Amino acid sequence: MLANRMKNLCPYVPGEQPSDREYIKLNANENPFPPSPKVKDALLKAVQEEFPRLSRYTDPDSSELRNAIASLLNATGGVLCRATVNGTLVFPEKKDALPFEITPDMIHVGNGSDEVLSHVFYAFFDDDRPLISPEYSYSFYPVYSGYYGIPLKKIPLKNDWSLDVESMIFEANKNHSATIIANPNAPTALTVSRQTLREWISRVPGDKPFVVDEAYCDFGGESALSLLSEFPNLAVVRTFSKSLCGAGIRLGFVVASKELIEAVKTAKNSFNHFPVDFLASVSGIAACSDCAYYVGIAKEICRVRDDFSDFLKSKGWSVLDSRTNFIFAKKEHLSGLEAYKKIKADGILVRHFDSAGIEDFIRISVGTKEQMEILKKTMAEM
Ligand SMILES: *Cc1c(COP(=O)(O)O)cnc(C)c1O
Repeated sequence: MLANRMKNLCPYVPGEQPSDREYIKLNANENPFPPSPKVKDALLKAVQEEFPRLSRYTDPDSSELRNAIASLLNATGGVLCRATVNGTLVFPEKKDALPFEITPDMIHVGNGSDEVLSHVFYAFFDDDRPLISPEYSYSFYPVYSGYYGIPLKKIPLKNDWSLDVESMIFEANKNHSATIIANPNAPTALTVSRQTLREWISRVPGDKPFVVDEAYCDFGGESALSLLSEFPNLAVVRTFSKSLCGAGIRLGFVVASKELIEAVKTAKNSFNHFPVDFLASVSGIAACSDCAYYVGIAKEICRVRDDFSDFLKSKGWSVLDSRTNFIFAKKEHLSGLEAYKKIKADGILVRHFDSAGIEDFIRISVGTKEQMEILKKTMAEM
């Protein structure tokens, strides 16, 4: 009865969002802190003073929001915070400074970066050649590949779980392919440096898009934004959901050359002309005006993360070196599923993936200090 193309769909399964019991939720990499008080003030003001605007369509180009994002990126060099492993805050660091100005016409916003990624996949990736991506990466990439009929070539990670850059370059050149990565990568939490990325992009086809998904960049990664002036085929995808405490606001964006942004806009305007709603837009603009608040939070998350990693290591866990707001860890003689179940029985949700190869791991989102202390008690005995 259904359309044939439904056979290609393999929908994303998000971390559980249970309602039946109060769990400490450390399974979806949400930020445990609320958005800036400025977001609350802006929302209250919007409801008080601009309520009738809800009966009108929003600005289809989200101009004010794109202006606000551009200002934030230019002011920070594209990284909210480079909190280093020992928690030292570098903000913004000289080497993060952008060598050019990001203009609003280099930005496209959407209803979460998942929606932005959907239009990026549609606009950038051919169906007649493989798209290159790491074997273990954001699990939405294979979903969109199936949705749009884009063949995906998954390149195995190296033994230390890092990206096999040489193999990815080789495969991209073999069929003249585009590439997509998350940097830092999910769920491994590992990052590649900007210099590695620069060499990488310079060695793959320059007329095929190279997409870097920087959902976790603000927790210690190096942004590729400053490479945009060197590579017209580079596109950088970002989200308000992690470092900007806004998973429920649903805002994401992509930064690239005007030409690439025009293409993404064409894809979006062929699907939904008004994706960003009025209240999301108000929230996003206010968030961009309070960078100091989010810098403080990113710093705190990095501190708690490093403290928890040290704890796990002291209990015999192998922990990958995280530059994100989550920890990817495993322990010998304990399956990932078993660990997940034991932790859940104590009222805490973490994420377990049953994909072959990473089934021994659990992924723990970094919560508040208090939440992580509770988790320590549970995991101390495992
Ligand atoms: C969380 C996440 C996203 C999705 O973010 P939304 O803006 O909430 O849709 C995109 N990419 C990666 C790698 C993520 O982890």
